[in-house]
Amino acid sequence: MDWQPAFKVCYHCGCPRIRRLRPTAFECEECSRLLFINPVSAVALILIDPDDHILLVKRANEPAKGKLSLPGGFMDPGETAEDGARRETREETGVEVNEVNYLASFPNYYRYGDTEYIVLDLFFWVRIKDFGKAQALDEVEAVTTLRFDSVDPDQIAFPSVRQAIQLFKDRWPALRGASGGR
Ligand SMILES: [Zn+2]
Repeated sequence: MDWQPAFKVCYHCGCPRIRRLRPTAFECEECSRLLFINPVSAVALILIDPDDHILLVKRANEPAKGKLSLPGGFMDPGETAEDGARRETREETGVEVNEVNYLASFPNYYRYGDTEYIVLDLFFWVRIKDFGKAQALDEVEAVTTLRFDSVDPDQIAFPSVRQAIQLFKDRWPALRGASGGR
């Protein structure tokens, strides 16, 4: 991380005098409330077909416009991560899935305009028979499928997504076997 997260004003009283206590903890000098830097949650889903192809979306917007990512996005309040992964996949690609399997989490930093979001990305995976219904919808320029072992990491939008795809690749022989093979 090449920047130091901080508060510009207190979000309780609007006072700009904020004292840093620890790297992620601050105190407002006006109202004495404590302010903490915490990540927000995001989710992404690896959909894999019987030929080991995964579904990727070409991002229509910044950050990382034109790069590839997995279907996914920020969580809504009150939602489970599993529901979020299903919702984002439906909103971005039109693909409906049922049960999803947890894979892993990786931290991510996401710049939107002049705001830096500190994010924890939760990754899930699910088998799918085919990608016939996949289409480019919300915030997606195009959908594409690639064998997961031929994905070029340089084309992937975020380090966390690169890490998740690499981990999935490493674990796939065991995951495939553990869930009954094909
Ligand atoms: Zn305050």
